[in-house]
Amino acid sequence: MSSFPEKLADRYRRFKHRIYVPNADDYEELGTFGQSPEVMLVSCCDSRVDPETIFNAMPGELFVVRNVANLVPPYEMASKFNGVSAAVEFAVLNLRIRHLVVMGHSGCGGIQAALDQSAAIQTEAMFISRWMSMLDEARLSVVAAHQTASHDDQLIALEKEAVKVSIRNLRTFPFVTERENKGKLSLHGAHFDIKNGTLSVLNHSRGEFFAL
Ligand SMILES: [Zn+2]
Repeated sequence: MSSFPEKLADRYRRFKHRIYVPNADDYEELGTFGQSPEVMLVSCCDSRVDPETIFNAMPGELFVVRNVANLVPPYEMASKFNGVSAAVEFAVLNLRIRHLVVMGHSGCGGIQAALDQSAAIQTEAMFISRWMSMLDEARLSVVAAHQTASHDDQLIALEKEAVKVSIRNLRTFPFVTERENKGKLSLHGAHFDIKNGTLSVLNHSRGEFFAL
């Protein structure tokens, strides 16, 4: 007897009928010849910010890594089990992606935990607490720069600052900077507002996000 959720099984059957069957040739080609996406996306685990939906993408178009608060750690070889770094390495060196997008989002629970230091208070939240400590410096600078701002505005500011931190961390990977300097790879920042569906993108020279 399978305990696989019936709701998921139903959704899968719907996918097979409505998505797979009309695109069976594309799936067969992808299955036979492999993937060659031009874009890698780092996005949050949050169920409301699915990159394939937001960018209306088909299979094979986006190479996606999702983690709590869409973070990229800095380059370090000491960490033995770093799935994000492994994915970045594979995307840049093997797939030779041309664009790497870090996408934050509104109401991010991970960023909120970093802002409120709430994960650190919960003893069982050890992994989240450690993961979010990547933003310790960013949190201090955002709080200092937005002292009179509301908690919501501080949260948005840290969500956007976290995207910049991840882009800075990406540039600590030698192979990332090498390809970026050769003009073969572009790094991008984005922030998705769930309530109004607005995607803002980072202007690197101004350090600000602008709505598309
Ligand atoms: Zn999030």
